[in-house]
Amino acid sequence: MPRPTAIRKSVSDLRVPPNLDDYGSARAGFSWAGAAQALAGLPGGGLNIAWEAVDRHAAGPHAGRPAFRFLRADGSERELAYAELARLTNRFCNVLRRLGVAKGDRLFVLCGRIPELYVAVLGALKNGTVVSPLFSAFGPEPIRTRMNLGGGKVLVTTESLYRRKVLPVRDGMETLEHVLLVSEDGAPTRVPGTLDLATLLAEASDDCEIEPTGPDDPSLLHFTSGTTGMPKGALHVHGAAVTHYATGLYALDLHPDDVFWCTADPGWVTGTSYGIVAPLLHGVTSIVDEADFDAERWYGILERQGVTVWYTAPTAIRMLMKAGAGLARAHRFPALRFVASVGEPLNPEAVWWGLEALGLPIHDNWWQTETGGIMIANTPSQDIKPGSMGRPLPGVDAFIVRRREDGGVEVVDKPNVEGELALRAGWPSMFRGYLGQEERYRKCFAGELYLTGDVARRDEDGYFWFVGRADDVIKSAGHLIGPFEVESALMENPAVAEAGVIGKPDPTVGEVVKAFVSLRQGYQPSDALRTELLAHARKTLGAAVAPKEIDFVATLPRTRSGKIMRRLLKARELGLPEGDLSTLEGGA
Ligand code: AMP
Repeated sequence: MPRPTAIRKSVSDLRVPPNLDDYGSARAGFSWAGAAQALAGLPGGGLNIAWEAVDRHAAGPHAGRPAFRFLRADGSERELAYAELARLTNRFCNVLRRLGVAKGDRLFVLCGRIPELYVAVLGALKNGTVVSPLFSAFGPEPIRTRMNLGGGKVLVTTESLYRRKVLPVRDGMETLEHVLLVSEDGAPTRVPGTLDLATLLAEASDDCEIEPTGPDDPSLLHFTSGTTGMPKGALHVHGAAVTHYATGLYALDLHPDDVFWCTADPGWVTGTSYGIVAPLLHGVTSIVDEADFDAERWYGILERQGVTVWYTAPTAIRMLMKAGAGLARAHRFPALRFVASVGEPLNPEAVWWGLEALGLPIHDNWWQTETGGIMIANTPSQDIKPGSMGRPLPGVDAFIVRRREDGGVEVVDKPNVEGELALRAGWPSMFRGYLGQEERYRKCFAGELYLTGDVARRDEDGYFWFVGRADDVIKSAGHLIGPFEVESALMENPAVAEAGVIGKPDPTVGEVVKAFVSLRQGYQPSDALRTELLAHARKTLGAAVAPKEIDFVATLPRTRSGKIMRRLLKARELGLPEGDLSTLEGGA
């Protein structure tokens, strides 16, 4: 029997009254100024994410409640209560002050999901220092590029990551002054040119006055990828906490007693906005799994930890689906109340699978690094149309637009017409710039609209449906990958004349990175060369970014202006129509 097109929801079916019950009245009654009232503000005036997230609770009845429960790969656990987190982040802030690291300086973190990462991020925010968490699966090149673009003065990392990924490129990190190392065996680290973080923390005071910061002061720097050129450093502000609080309330339906699990790594924006900030703002307990994905382990965590709200990603859901329904049925999830997903299109099948395997449908939502927080969502009490990203949250106005020749845009009023997704600028977590790339930032706006680079359509009920990206960036396992960065790494090999990189559709991870390479004169395609190129890319870019497939081609299609036509490479790879070839070099 065909499945219905919608999953009907009603407030009376929900075990816990949702924070957003009536969509229309919630939107009509919402203002960002009103939402900001939920935050306390710094005692002397101003706003600081870490104060709202940690100290506010540490000074109140939630002091003893676990802020984080870290699950180690070996099965052991470590809890950090709000009061303990306040103390440790104070110490970290004092460590930075002792080293002369000031408000506005930039600190990078390159760690797995270990307690030190969370202490460093929040402690740096207390100091007004701008934090950039990097994905620990990056190789040396993406790390060096981002450190230099961001002007990183301090790096917090582990001894093994330092040796493997930082040392090979440390000489090329022009602004780096201090490396704070996390020991992995309990003994102080003794690596030349670095400091032992545990020793510094032990020497620091528990007391610290937060640096006065305001809503417009920079807080976090997240790198994202475009089609061309270097990665873009999207700069966020302390005022973003208002969005994180409001979306935690409406899109994730957080309630004070929740046990929340966001599976994203803080090296990507979801893992910071919703793996660190939003749950702490709500004073709930967050689960952090230090280990990698494993279907049996994940079901065990949901069950044993009594997770009530779960925020995960389509790739993970598809991997759970692959592991089979039997595994899910061997577990019970009586505590689980709400499941949401982000980062890539969520297939309707996956939404229904949630209902069968977990007893709850998966609620897709949409946002991106630049928006800083969830913008469009399926919320607990609203009907779900499987395959749709949901509707704009209170405070968010979304449009479908068409770009005009003159650089402006036209809003498309008719439902079910494809166009670029745009948002009315002005929500608090909107990025405030691409570091050092003013022109690129300016180009994201047309009048009061922010242009997202995604193509979507809106149906007659106001639900938004994702169609695709307007550009060539690749989404693999939820991670945004810039083809240019991959092409540049391949071009380092003397055999390579040119490289074009695309995302090739994959049933599990969405897209895999595939490269097309043409060789210089005197070089011949061979399996040995392919293996050499794959290995080099893995070593320099890291496994998460490196191509999985390489094809040798005689030439790459280029536009008359010399740009590689990745769109055409992709169409040819997939056997799809080649589209408009009027700009192809040498004619169609
Ligand atoms: P990032 O900036 O890495 O978070 O990636 C943001 C991009 O991921 C968006 O611009 C979309 O292309 C994609 N994305 C995020 N959420 C969804 C979703 N629910 N459905 C489809 N694509 C999504």
